[in-house]
Amino acid sequence: MNEFVETLLELTWHEPKSSYDVVIIGGGGHGLATAYYLATRHGITNVAVIEADYIGSGNSGRNTTIIRANYGIPESIRFYNHSVDLYRNLEAETGCRIMHANKGLIWMAHTESGMRAERSRVQLNNACGVETVLVDPIEIKRLCPQVDLTGGGRYPVLGASFHVPGSTARHDRVVWAYAQGAMHRGVHVLQGTSVTGLLRDGDRVVGVKTSRGDISAGIVMSAVGGDVSTIAAHAGLRLPVRTHPLQAFVTNGYAQGLGPIVSSTDLLCYVSQTARGQMLIGHEFERESSYSRQSSFQFLQSCSLKMAYLLPFVRNLKILRQWTGRCDISADFSPIMGFTGVEGLVITTGWGTWGFKGIPAGGEQMAELIATGRTPDLIAPFALSRFAADHPMADQGSTGTR
Ligand SMILES: Cc1cc2nc3c(=O)[nH]c(=O)nc-3n(C[C@H](O)[C@H](O)[C@H](O)COP(=O)(O)OP(=O)(O)OC[C@H]3O[C@@H](n4cnc5c(N)ncnc54)[C@H](O)[C@@H]3O)c2cc1C
Repeated sequence: MNEFVETLLELTWHEPKSSYDVVIIGGGGHGLATAYYLATRHGITNVAVIEADYIGSGNSGRNTTIIRANYGIPESIRFYNHSVDLYRNLEAETGCRIMHANKGLIWMAHTESGMRAERSRVQLNNACGVETVLVDPIEIKRLCPQVDLTGGGRYPVLGASFHVPGSTARHDRVVWAYAQGAMHRGVHVLQGTSVTGLLRDGDRVVGVKTSRGDISAGIVMSAVGGDVSTIAAHAGLRLPVRTHPLQAFVTNGYAQGLGPIVSSTDLLCYVSQTARGQMLIGHEFERESSYSRQSSFQFLQSCSLKMAYLLPFVRNLKILRQWTGRCDISADFSPIMGFTGVEGLVITTGWGTWGFKGIPAGGEQMAELIATGRTPDLIAPFALSRFAADHPMADQGSTGTR
């Protein structure tokens, strides 16, 4: 055992009851965080989180762990900034070590249009109270001496935005922290239990059909990541969301140490160093929509080549593992949180390639929505109804969603 393997988890498993006040489908970060905040902020503990596999087996346990708020529209910046703040205090709040580490994030530009985008990112971030500064190549070299400013002779680095609060946290520990906190307060987490349909009373959703029997509920929340279209279809809903695979890989350890997170919008790839010293590298999502979790050599080839242009030392590392998640990509690249128009069913989806950082704020806000029956101001812009109102929240603020 070592510090990367949690030995002190106190997870208490239960048999399903026939009825709960709230049933949450999906034991990823968003489902478990919502259960946690329902219990801690609102005293609602008659809650079940139903997970088809094991908790964190979806994207919440497969991501590249980057937390940041340097988005491209004010509504997103405010939302993610609140999540960044909640992450800062999550260890103190839950008493669990989530290995949160503030590293700063360099977001490099290789073209004049890329520089224009970074300049406007800096202005908008600061206008919304988020610390992002423009840095020139000399400053980039000071922040991260390993960067090749010629970009391998192909992608010269003209400058970057530097997002000071950029950070990482250990993904499965975040899932476990929320699970443990919720379970301690009486929430039931049912692993190995698939939701196969929704119980209806007329138009209203009144529970779920599961592989272990029917469970009735005062309200049902779907938090199923890339499987959302299936759950929505049970309610007769067609969402503006498509599922796309997203891949990542890690190398062996790099002893010298890489300080900040390094990202390139033009090259659509990014890297951070894990606490073990490995390089954790990610890319844009696959263009073809699919439910496949197949990893490809083509991805490894193109992503490692791009990374070697920026950080030549990676050529000397070995690739240890690669994996794939299935991402719920919304039509405007922003999350969808709130009421669905179907009574008794609320939803948190559209988390795509960017939803790990949104877990604390997403969970907190959805808990408030469920507890009060009202949409909190912070997430009101992310309602599903925005598509019908022709008010999309277009924000290609993620490296992988340009
Ligand atoms: C490779 C990769 C890298 C990423 N990197 C980042 C990053 O650096 N930063 C960032 O912010 N985001 C990142 N993301 C995105 C982030 O991981 C997700 O947006 C986030 O984890 C979504 O959490 P969730 O709880 O909504 O979904 P998930 O974690 O996918 O959880 C959904 C759960 O629902 C369960 N489920 C599905 N159907 C059913 C059913 N019928 N019945 C019961 N349970 C069901 C699944 O088994 C799953 O456990 C990345 C994603 C991937 C794949």
